[in-house]
Amino acid sequence: MEVIAFVCPLCKGPLTFDSEAYCCDPCGRRYPVVCGIPDFRILPDRFISIEDDRRKGLRLFEESTRRSFAGMLDFYYSITPDVPPALARKFSVHALAEVEIGDASLCQLGASQPSGSLLDVGCSTGGLVVAASRRFAAVIGVDVAFRWLVVGAVRLREAGVKAPLVCANAEFLPFAADQFAAVTATDLVEHLADPAPAFAECRRVAAPGAAVYFSTNNRYSLTPEPHANVWGVGWLPRPWQASYVRLVSRRHYRNVNLRSAAELEAWTRAAGFDPGCADKARVRPAPLAVPGRWERVQSVYNHLSRLPGWSRLLVWFGPRLEILCRK
Ligand SMILES: [Zn+2]
Repeated sequence: MEVIAFVCPLCKGPLTFDSEAYCCDPCGRRYPVVCGIPDFRILPDRFISIEDDRRKGLRLFEESTRRSFAGMLDFYYSITPDVPPALARKFSVHALAEVEIGDASLCQLGASQPSGSLLDVGCSTGGLVVAASRRFAAVIGVDVAFRWLVVGAVRLREAGVKAPLVCANAEFLPFAADQFAAVTATDLVEHLADPAPAFAECRRVAAPGAAVYFSTNNRYSLTPEPHANVWGVGWLPRPWQASYVRLVSRRHYRNVNLRSAAELEAWTRAAGFDPGCADKARVRPAPLAVPGRWERVQSVYNHLSRLPGWSRLLVWFGPRLEILCRK
């Protein structure tokens, strides 16, 4: 298996390893390895401090030897009371389907033969990492949520997949430039306050000619907002969205900014992707692939989304968007 070396996420210089941590002398920073996961974070995620995230990860790690992946999801939500049970069930069904969903995303890359390595940014519990391990010589998953990587390690163990899971910010990736044959970022951009630096980092670490793929939920979708399960959220001005969700569902709506096709295109241009390249780097409707849920509707949608007229319409009000760029 191809080995990708880590660099300092801040200065991109080489690191030394002292059996417990990676160290960057010029930056005076130490990046510890916790539960076997290197933690290169510069900033916490938007939900939880780095310390609280590690504490929760350690608690999950203690459970990980005696639980299956599905059992880890149950345990996670049992210690996360701010997610109501109905929403926890919905998220768990989605997490259990993420290998199939990841497979559908990988089909969009047009890469069927294992060649080189793939980086999945915002890998969460590693569904796409498992799917990609069948197609690529090496796969690395990165996420800012340490606690979810601990859960994801159980998914990988269960699937017999050996792939590094790395805790890092999408805005500060711990890899040198021009490394990866493919970079994927599915359901990442809606969780970033400012996605522009993450788009630039995904392009930087991609090898020349590599595919870089982003997908996300469409802000202007006619379906319910997937994180809150409430209709019409994206059509409201952003400052009103949280109050509206609280009014309708009595739940919090924090740290999610659904994005539009125009925004996705603007960020790929700003990151330096060439709009005149062979793939044209245009936003398209992304395929739906959640097994067991409205499968007939999903397949009709997937068929329509490949027809030019429908494709243009679904970019406006369809549930999901994708953009495939070439470095
Ligand atoms: Zn450094």
